[in-house]
Amino acid sequence: MTNSLIKIAKDFHWEMAHRLPYHQGGCQNLHGHSYQLNVEISGTVLPNGMLMDYSDLKAIVKPLVDELDHAFLCSEDDELMKSFLKGKFFKVVYIPYYSTAENIAGYFLDKIAAQLKPHKHLRSLKIRVAETVNTYAEISVDL
Ligand SMILES: [Zn+2]
Repeated sequence: MTNSLIKIAKDFHWEMAHRLPYHQGGCQNLHGHSYQLNVEISGTVLPNGMLMDYSDLKAIVKPLVDELDHAFLCSEDDELMKSFLKGKFFKVVYIPYYSTAENIAGYFLDKIAAQLKPHKHLRSLKIRVAETVNTYAEISVDL
């Protein structure tokens, strides 16, 4: 048991506005989603019987989620929105890529993986981001 790989996961939620400036359909419009994030880690159990305390995982992930909550996620090349937002006090997070579920999953993967590196008993990290109840994007990495 102690040498077996085990997985734990925790869900997070946030509300966020975005748009895909290049899109020919509905996604070009300024709109929002109730996003769901599932963070799954695997590794070997520590002597305390845990892979990681859920509160320690929350301490890593929640600040990242809070940064996006009720924000507009703006791609840096979206000149229309940048011009509109200039001088206003809306909550905006700029990213150097488009705000697709795939890219948002990668955004969380990079930031969370960096913080999990010191935990040598962990083996992998999997991120799932859902914009709607019918869709999700998933990305994973070995730690
Ligand atoms: Zn959308």
